[in-house]
Amino acid sequence: MSVVATERIERLRALAREAARTGEFDRAREHVRLARRIAERHRLSLPRRFRRFTCDRCDVYLRPGANARVRLRPGRVVVRCDCGATARYPHSGRTDTKE
Ligand SMILES: [Zn+2]
Repeated sequence: MSVVATERIERLRALAREAARTGEFDRAREHVRLARRIAERHRLSLPRRFRRFTCDRCDVYLRPGANARVRLRPGRVVVRCDCGATARYPHSGRTDTKE
């Protein structure tokens, strides 16, 4: 487990989040892709909140209200990216749908 790699991934996540907040979605994608490459190289699994807030199809960082729509369904959360991809997660009833 590489602490440096973990910190870089967290830093990139924060940058991607900020880029998405200001509407720079392509920049957000670059940060997300780089973080994924680092994780792959170091054989790290990405943190849950990273996976939840990134689109599997277009790699953008998802900001509900900006480029993603979040719907709560019984027992699950449905997140739809502006690219059209949807992701579904089990809904534990805890606050893990929040950032
Ligand atoms: Zn997408």
